[in-house]
Amino acid sequence: MLTLIKGGTLVDDTREQRGDLLIEGEKIIKTAARIDAAVADRIIDASGLLVMPGGVDVHTHFNIDTGSAVSCDDFYSGTRAAACGGTTTIVDHMGFGPAGCNLHHQLEKYHRDARGKAVIDYSFHGVIQHVDEAILDELYAMVHMEGISSFKFYLTYQYHLNDGDVLRLLERLKEVGALATVHPENDAVIAHHRQRLLAENKRAPIWHALSRPVACEAEAIARSINLAQLAGNAPLYIVHLSNGLGMDYIKLAKARGQPVWMETCPQYLLLDIGHYQREDALKYILSPPLRPHPELDSLWGGINDGSIDTVATDHCTFPYSLRQARAAEDFTRCPNGLPGVENRLALLFSEGVAKGRISASRFVALTSANPARLFGLWPDKGSLRPGSDADLVLFDPQRRQVIRHADLHDNTDYSPWEGFACDGWPVITLSRGEIVWQDGIFCGQAGHGRFIHRKPFFLKHQEAK
Ligand SMILES: [Zn+2]
Repeated sequence: MLTLIKGGTLVDDTREQRGDLLIEGEKIIKTAARIDAAVADRIIDASGLLVMPGGVDVHTHFNIDTGSAVSCDDFYSGTRAAACGGTTTIVDHMGFGPAGCNLHHQLEKYHRDARGKAVIDYSFHGVIQHVDEAILDELYAMVHMEGISSFKFYLTYQYHLNDGDVLRLLERLKEVGALATVHPENDAVIAHHRQRLLAENKRAPIWHALSRPVACEAEAIARSINLAQLAGNAPLYIVHLSNGLGMDYIKLAKARGQPVWMETCPQYLLLDIGHYQREDALKYILSPPLRPHPELDSLWGGINDGSIDTVATDHCTFPYSLRQARAAEDFTRCPNGLPGVENRLALLFSEGVAKGRISASRFVALTSANPARLFGLWPDKGSLRPGSDADLVLFDPQRRQVIRHADLHDNTDYSPWEGFACDGWPVITLSRGEIVWQDGIFCGQAGHGRFIHRKPFFLKHQEAK
């Protein structure tokens, strides 16, 4: 079956130009200024629309079991929400498994969780919760047999690693062709602050933010970067950057030629610490926390000047009702995380492209092409080239839409973006040639999404633009 997307503006990470795009089955086979409509079995009219590679969200947590709660989006509702927002690939961060479990344990759990449920294509980042010879030896098979070419380690939470383990891990990840990703917050700082705050009975949501200040994150970023350099310049990807000081450390490392990349999320660009003074503050508890406004401005600086490589969501949904039941009296009992997988593209387009801060091509780089390159998905994903998967979002740059949780497709009971007006909106999403979202209606199918066996990490191939 041949599908012709006609009369749109084709936008990838390098250029935008008027043109048509032809799909055969699951693949893009041709782009040109004009393709004859007679060749096609089906025509999608894209006049007035931007035709872009579908979004690649490399930071979600579907079905995550934190020990005290399981997030309420599974691989069906989570990928459904993603598809309705123009995202066609997700790479989910595995949660911790039982103490001492090997890497395959969580991989098998995640395959079971996702198989038959995902609406769009997906992969997982491995998680490192302890380091020993067996774990280090298992990495090669994870990368080369299982297609898991990135791993996350934590510097806080129950299974955070010490410096020696981080060093050994980074050396081995580099050796086997994997990209290390890090959740950087200083665990001792958080413990120290929490102990003092609880003793003083300071348990309101604002203390969540004040217990994890900017320096608590920035210190851990600087430490991770230096350990990566000591590990022979091991490639390192910083997740969910929330502040300017941390960004400055990363920029310094980049300027020295160190292979380091950084991700931020819409909430760190658009929501500030003032949200913790609201009556519904528990809706905004996540880590790192929302920051004072100057940090948001710094991050926009990094979006503008090319320092920030990717925008992901860290989508992790715990209902407001659960948050209230658990944490009305004590912020430390609140499950962490925000919903967001459905609105990433619209928010960044509206605040970035519509407001004239970035070009449409830079938007594609941040939301699709760069994450695809870094995580071994390129050029199947993140590209409009012939041979790439026909994973596309058709975006109406003129459409103004106000976000209402009632219209969204996740399983939680609120949106942190309620009432937020977006200029520009995804109107059609295709996943490998199949329309999964059109005219405000979800039309995808559980099980259409396939696990993607990702390529190993090689610096020369995956350089972000
Ligand atoms: Zn996360």
